[in-house]
Amino acid sequence: MPKHLRSAWNRTLFRLATLLVIAAVGGWLAGAFWEVLAIGSLCVVVWQFWRLRAVLRRLTARERLQPADGDGVWNELDRLLHRGQMDMRTRKRRLLAMLRAYRAAAAALPDAVVVIDRNTQRAQWFNKAATSLLGLRHPIDLNAPVGERLQPLPMSHWLSAGRNAEPMLDAVSPINPDLRLNLRLIPYSDQYWLLVARDVSKLLRLEEMRRDFVANVSHELRTPLTVVHGYLDMLDADEFPEWKPILDEMQKQSARMTQLVEDLLTLSRLEVQDSLTDESIAMGSMLATLRREAEALSRQRQTIVIEDCGDIDLWGSNKELHSAFSNLVSNAVRYTPVGGTITVSFVREGDGAMLSVRDTGYGIPAAHLPRITERFYRVSTSRSRESGGTGLGLSIVKHVLNLHQARLEIESAVGHGSTFSIHFGPARVHPRESALPYPQSQIA
Ligand code: ADP
Repeated sequence: MPKHLRSAWNRTLFRLATLLVIAAVGGWLAGAFWEVLAIGSLCVVVWQFWRLRAVLRRLTARERLQPADGDGVWNELDRLLHRGQMDMRTRKRRLLAMLRAYRAAAAALPDAVVVIDRNTQRAQWFNKAATSLLGLRHPIDLNAPVGERLQPLPMSHWLSAGRNAEPMLDAVSPINPDLRLNLRLIPYSDQYWLLVARDVSKLLRLEEMRRDFVANVSHELRTPLTVVHGYLDMLDADEFPEWKPILDEMQKQSARMTQLVEDLLTLSRLEVQDSLTDESIAMGSMLATLRREAEALSRQRQTIVIEDCGDIDLWGSNKELHSAFSNLVSNAVRYTPVGGTITVSFVREGDGAMLSVRDTGYGIPAAHLPRITERFYRVSTSRSRESGGTGLGLSIVKHVLNLHQARLEIESAVGHGSTFSIHFGPARVHPRESALPYPQSQIA
């Protein structure tokens, strides 16, 4: 017990004892010892109860307590209660100030923020930007069902999907068709979810401008390049033997530039497409074409192996899938030294299918794998240039696969080779009707 509390106790006990002694002496003098002592004790008990009642009243009255004067244990209790109340008030004031600051910060955010009660799907709070981006108005939309208020945004569907819901969604603003929004649903407690909507119209416009610019530049470059390439092809190097190495290099470089422009145009075209027209792809003849192309590129420097399960075909765009597959095959040939083996296999995978291109080439260090499908990302620029690469092949593959809801997986070990596997879902697979162009496994 602290010292001041101990002395308060002592003082109170001393006072009680003095009172009882006075009562006893008074009673003895008056000849009614027990009666006066009993009355004195009763007064002490009544007084204690009265103080206790006063404390309880002060605690329940929720009014501001006055600091108590005087000593004694009851005054000490009053002082402690007063101090507790002051501490609580200060803490409350600080918390309120913090809450106000948080609310002001959230209100000032350029992104729309809406707190949604997940069970009732009603808006509990929203900031100013929620009015300009989503059309929610104060105070009538407080407690309004967000699904209804934010139509046509798929809010109800999104909230019912719970934690399995897509975390992000791109949509047009419900109040302004020119505004493109990026919406995020963040579950921050079991009851409350946060909807954050960001205006990405400017970003998308810039992205569109970038795409148009690349597409236009590539398109403009195509015609002069065709002319230069054509004239270079017409020049007979045998007539100018001293110019032969220069002419060969010029032809090689102009072919590379033409390929670069073609790849850029392909990428621009794929980027603006949302979907492709599906057709049945005869995988037998597709694999035969891939073999022919690989053999032409390899010129017998590597062994080409084709493995075909023989009983399924794919749904998709023949042209685009051929471009993706042949990019992988041409990479395998270009990045595999003489004597290596390239295996292209097409197999069932559960209800889906997998096409893989495996090589025994240089391999790719693991650190490069996460970025390998980015445009112009190369593991070794010199090796890529030397082999006639544009740095766009895997980007094209990625875009084509996205349009087919397919997934690319890369496994590689430096010095041992790489495997690029494309996984197609069940919706992309159907039984093969034609006769098998290849036996189960055919080795070139
Ligand atoms: P490039 O035209 O340069 O080949 P890609 O986009 O097709 O461009 O490939 C990107 C990079 O990935 C290449 O530069 C190369 O370093 C690496 N790469 C792709 N395929 C293979 C492979 N089969 N073996 C080793 N490296 C590969």
